[in-house]
Amino acid sequence: MQPVILSNNGEAPTGAGRIQRASSLAEDVYEAIFAQLMSLKIAPGSRITVDNLVKEFDVSHTPIREALGRLEGEGLVLKTHLIGYRAAPQISRRRFDELYEMRLLLEPHGAAKAAAAMDEAKLGTLLEAAGVMSRREGKDERLRYSNFARQDAIFHDKIMEYAENELIRETLGYQHTHFHIFRLMYHSRVTEEALDEHEAILAAFGSADPDAAAKAMRAHIEHSRDRLLPAFD
Ligand SMILES: [Zn+2]
Repeated sequence: MQPVILSNNGEAPTGAGRIQRASSLAEDVYEAIFAQLMSLKIAPGSRITVDNLVKEFDVSHTPIREALGRLEGEGLVLKTHLIGYRAAPQISRRRFDELYEMRLLLEPHGAAKAAAAMDEAKLGTLLEAAGVMSRREGKDERLRYSNFARQDAIFHDKIMEYAENELIRETLGYQHTHFHIFRLMYHSRVTEEALDEHEAILAAFGSADPDAAAKAMRAHIEHSRDRLLPAFD
């Protein structure tokens, strides 16, 4: 995936943030709006005006509408008849608790099953996904954060794929959990601490140890919950 270059000073664009027309324009516009939603530059619940985005990114309406449609499918944007688009509101404390309860029920078990089924190819895929998350290159902090959120979703989804229960995998995937939880708090702590916890999960996979994998996954999810809880204060 080509990185989007929003501006060359590392700051989020304010109006001069032109999109470089290198890779697919639609993809770049989507990535840029996704990054703004994840980093709360577009605040949860706020209105999103197509015309403003057209001006900000200096593109036509088409890629903006395409991007918003895709984000709507991901639960990050809502479209209301006659009113238009707005950013999805922040998840409620109750939904947050429900999500984490569900994750704690399903993911440690999935990690144990994945560990039992681990092989070189699967471990390689997981190591690569984790490696992408640890990269710190690129000046755009927002983009890095949003990439981390997406990659974390892929990492966890891959583990559930290897656990070989498609129903559980779909159930978790359908919630777009990672997009919602990363949007609760835009802070480097959210990503930095998760890296160490992923290392522990990978170590358990490396030794194909189901008990250790379940334990490491449980610890990761519990720590993730504790990191994000202050968002509700
Ligand atoms: Zn994670």
